Amino acid sequence: MAWGDPLKRGDKGADVVELQMRLAGFRGTMPDGDFGPGTELQVMVFQRDVMGMKNPKGRVGAATLAAIDAFGAAHPVDFQQLTCKCGVCDGFGQGLFKGKYRGGRKIEAYHRYEYPGIHRMLLWAYRGAMFYAGHKGWKLTVNSGYRCSEDNRQHGRSSTNHHGKAIDMDILGAPSKMIDRERCNALRGLLVEKANAQVGWAAGNRKSLEPAEIAPTWVHYDVRSYDRKFLADRYFVKTQAALDTPPVL
Ligand SMILES: [Zn+2]
Ligand SMILES: [Zn+2]
Repeated sequence: MAWGDPLKRGDKGADVVELQMRLAGFRGTMPDGDFGPGTELQVMVFQRDVMGMKNPKGRVGAATLAAIDAFGAAHPVDFQQLTCKCGVCDGFGQGLFKGKYRGGRKIEAYHRYEYPGIHRMLLWAYRGAMFYAGHKGWKLTVNSGYRCSEDNRQHGRSSTNHHGKAIDMDILGAPSKMIDRERCNALRGLLVEKANAQVGWAAGNRKSLEPAEIAPTWVHYDVRSYDRKFLADRYFVKTQAALDTPPVL
């Protein structure tokens, strides 16, 4: 099977992984390559919300594949916004500190590894966020993407989530700080509802949002609670082309 072939419930393989990546903003599952009920729900939500189908069946044929491509093209990701601004790395860290943990506890939140780019699922989920925000008339931007260890050093930060597993989104053009706060809260609610994200990090294998107390006037979105196998280097990208090109299956 190759990416572009029809897919349906019960199918397994690398092209199902690619489907799960691309539909990360619609409910959301892990990229386990198993087209089960969760993946089928993602397809149905995409078919209903993006394609406008009245009775979506959750089977992926040529029309749905074309719609996924069109959805990606309609929501370009500005990789310039995502780059680290430290002035030392190439924009996405230097691959330092793999397997090294802050405080010595082997917990992903303390993993110091500079992942090689930004996680593809996070960026496809960002596209979903752009899509649903668009229904409210909001335009999203990324005000903080990659922040490598050198950038952390320059700013006195210790958190390593922005080593490729997190972006901070902002809604453009709020007329006041109060309205900005309200809109950021509403966007978090939308992502919980539409993308099955969680506020906080209690559950494993869920997209996470920082609560309003930490992120009042922006929306931090991350994949740090994903299992290690879903944080493999191959899932991280540095260019739009790499985001949009399925890996060789
Ligand atoms: Zn840097
Ligand atoms: Zn953040």
